[in-house]
Amino acid sequence: MVDMDKIVSLSKRRGFIFQSSEIYGGLGSAWDYGPLGVELKNNVKRLWWRDNVYLRDDMVGLDAAITMHPKVWEASGHLASFSDPFTGCAECGRHYRADQIHDALWSSRWVRSLRERLTKGNNAVREIEKWLNGDGKKLAPNLPAVKRPEEIKSLDAASDLRVVDAFDQLGGSPNPYEVEAIIKPFLLGQSHLCCPNCGGVHLSPPKPASLMLETFLGPVKETATKTYLRPETAQGIFVNFDNVLQASRKKLPFGIAQIGKAFRNEITPGNFTFRTREFEQMEIEFFVLPGTDEEWHQKWIDERFAWYLRYGIRKENIRLREHEKDELAHYAKRTADIEYLFPMGWSELEGVANRADFDLKQHSQYSGKALEYFDEESKQKIIPYVIEPSAGADRSTLAFLVDAYHEEEVRGEKRVVLKFHPELAPIKIAVLPLLKKNDRIVETAKEITADLRRRWYAVYDDTASIGRLYRRQDEVGTPFCVTVDVQTVGDEKAPADDKVTIRDRNTMEQVRVSLSTLEPTIEKLMNGKWAEVAQEHGIKRA
Ligand code: ATP
Repeated sequence: MVDMDKIVSLSKRRGFIFQSSEIYGGLGSAWDYGPLGVELKNNVKRLWWRDNVYLRDDMVGLDAAITMHPKVWEASGHLASFSDPFTGCAECGRHYRADQIHDALWSSRWVRSLRERLTKGNNAVREIEKWLNGDGKKLAPNLPAVKRPEEIKSLDAASDLRVVDAFDQLGGSPNPYEVEAIIKPFLLGQSHLCCPNCGGVHLSPPKPASLMLETFLGPVKETATKTYLRPETAQGIFVNFDNVLQASRKKLPFGIAQIGKAFRNEITPGNFTFRTREFEQMEIEFFVLPGTDEEWHQKWIDERFAWYLRYGIRKENIRLREHEKDELAHYAKRTADIEYLFPMGWSELEGVANRADFDLKQHSQYSGKALEYFDEESKQKIIPYVIEPSAGADRSTLAFLVDAYHEEEVRGEKRVVLKFHPELAPIKIAVLPLLKKNDRIVETAKEITADLRRRWYAVYDDTASIGRLYRRQDEVGTPFCVTVDVQTVGDEKAPADDKVTIRDRNTMEQVRVSLSTLEPTIEKLMNGKWAEVAQEHGIKRA
């Protein structure tokens, strides 16, 4: 699995994702999508919308406002209980989500640096001692063992031996749990946990912190209406249930889909775009007759899981995790999370919940407007049950980016390639002239680019040698390069053959096709038919 630093650095270098307000030192919890990032994320959203709205008869779309009547958040329960427990470090002042501090600690800079020191075969005690007097001082100055390294020397022979013995059992480089087993008794002494930032052991008892971001509507703060930036898009769907029902004349079961920004005052944003305070959600509220909810819930779990596989997520990197009974939200009958193996470990990509009739009931009660459905069969008014597949556009984009990342060795050189599904790739085709000094080649390449652009995002590039240009396109995941050469346009020795070379990113194989069939050929390639095209035209020898 690629580490996150590589993804962050590639993202910046090639224009996928930048730190927000970087020239002012950056804002830790927000990220900006650059020229290629906006294409990738738009493709994720477009495919989600196409597959869930356009390709189904039972779904319609919605785009509700970010600011809503404050009562919405009373009814939904967010004002009373949308909070996470937090703890603070008395020594450096950092705050953490109390239920995530363990994970934050074992992936913190200081634990990672200590872990790098610990390799089998070395004297663990001596390595730790060196670390305490070197990197430890910089990275975890408040760790008790860093403050009093001399105490290490006074450890009795038995505990020294215990550490070394434990370490000697390990093979290769230790995993976080093995490191934990070594350093916990050794460095933290009596304390159970310590600060991921400075190593301090004085952490406050957990207290709840609201995740709602307040804002004021109106020019004078004292008289303005206090409201909130929505923490989820779902409530915009529930409060519009009756509007959509009346306008669309849909019958149960049917769903409403929405993509939009949501805001949460997260205690510990981090892991790149995985957890931010401003993010985009792709949510569906699928309304069903009570009694059919369990079956529909399972259908949606299966459908959403298959969606990620369809667009290239490798099956070993995705799994379902059923919520335990004590983890379920009070209104949920059942919830299953779709998790992805991100560089920091298995984490939620999407939650698929059976919310029963909680939301419509709450809004009916708080607004005084009945949010009901007339069931023709039973001739009764009922409150539908709802199934909610709730995905993050940013988390999906990050998962697709991480999953696409490959490093390969090609003729003794490292090739970095993003193996995006063609539908997700930011640039679909790069048109490259073999010789940029040949006017006819350049002109033809530009004409081809202009033609292809009517259907696909295509770019023209002549800023380097062909080998470099291919590598650059590999690194941003462009599935196909079209190259125009002397044979295409002809010269005094031979007439034009009106053919171009298409190179496949994944196999690096090339075929030569006639300009008149370029568009239908590319269409086939976009549908994953490289093998068929290669057979039809024969692989070109390099
Ligand atoms: P987590 O447990 O990771 O905080 P959650 O269970 O609170 O997530 P939901 O309320 O189910 O998340 O939100 C649905 C989806 O919205 C998540 O699966 C995720 O993809 C996305 N999401 C939620 N919070 C964030 C965030 N802070 N940053 C980016 N995406 C988020």
